[in-house]
Amino acid sequence: MSELYRSHNMNAGPGALPLEVLQQAQTELLDFKGTGMSVMEMSHRSKEFDEVIQTAEADLRELIGIPSNYKILFLQGGASLQFAMVPMNLRPVGASADYVVTGTWSKTAVKESKKLGTVRLAANTENEGFKTLPTSLDLDPKAAYLHFTSNETIHGVEFFNEPTPPDGVPLFCDASSDFISHPVDITKYALMYAGAQKNAGPAGVTVVILRDDMLERVPANMPVMLDYKIQAESGSMHNTPPCFSIYMIGLVFKWAKKVGGLSAIEKMNRAKSDLLYKAIDESGGFYTGHAKPEARSLMNIPFRLPSEELEELCAKEAKKAGIIGLKGHRSVGGMRASLYNAVTIDSVNMLVNFLKEFQRKNG
Ligand SMILES: *Cc1c(COP(=O)(O)O)cnc(C)c1O
Repeated sequence: MSELYRSHNMNAGPGALPLEVLQQAQTELLDFKGTGMSVMEMSHRSKEFDEVIQTAEADLRELIGIPSNYKILFLQGGASLQFAMVPMNLRPVGASADYVVTGTWSKTAVKESKKLGTVRLAANTENEGFKTLPTSLDLDPKAAYLHFTSNETIHGVEFFNEPTPPDGVPLFCDASSDFISHPVDITKYALMYAGAQKNAGPAGVTVVILRDDMLERVPANMPVMLDYKIQAESGSMHNTPPCFSIYMIGLVFKWAKKVGGLSAIEKMNRAKSDLLYKAIDESGGFYTGHAKPEARSLMNIPFRLPSEELEELCAKEAKKAGIIGLKGHRSVGGMRASLYNAVTIDSVNMLVNFLKEFQRKNG
């Protein structure tokens, strides 16, 4: 048999998954724990699947340290649906919500929220090209909530300390692209959501962590699938949940525990991103990072070359070398390397060596 080929996967999402996780899924694909079937083929009401979803929830609670007064939901519709579900459920009629805008994703969250009610911008860094974090916030003490995006996947800016809302204003976070990439004090948050497919699993499931008291805000007569209360009361099983994606994200949570939990994972992520930022900074201006140093993401690293022609050539040659996904988002161009949890330090070393060699040949 030929040796297994695995690319150096720097895709922004869906992104790399740990090899061990994929191998376990492969082993269990045809016969999950003696059932003679795949998790894809079994009833979501079976005791086997119940164990899958309960274990995923318990492992996530342990990993992040989520107290019992928080619900964990496994929903569909991606983070994009949360852009609407959050205000529909948690912004009372007539109330206003504060949003911190630091990139494309928070801007998109605002756009959706505005269709449904009142939005105020607590900060907006667009005039500075979404390269940095806001230095101050203009906060409404009566806001229904304060929403921010912990990591901007396209612009590569990441919060390492969450904004502090005024007393009594709950903090909400779109953590899609840095979920389980570092420790977080969840008790500072009333709601956190993340589409799995960036850093935590396959597409198809979105994790929502929600403090119990928020459920009191849910209006009556919501469409059932959009109702946090119904989703919470039914254990995310009002209808058929994304069973296989929940199984996969559960395997990723187990893996994350096994490699030492979120502190150990953050350490690895820092080591990986340090390597790439150092290479960018030491390139004498051949490579330039998008984000200002103090706001640099550990997860998504957008950077430019001296010309678009060189960027195209760089992505093409990287691909030939097995380094995949370096082409930047179509909205900003350039390059982007996504160094999610499952991207190994070996892959990052490969990338750094490739970039040095590319500069030597083309610089
Ligand atoms: C990708 C992404 C989204 C949108 O996610 P979907 O699951 O595709 O809806 C929202 N927010 C952030 C930060 C993202 O990275």
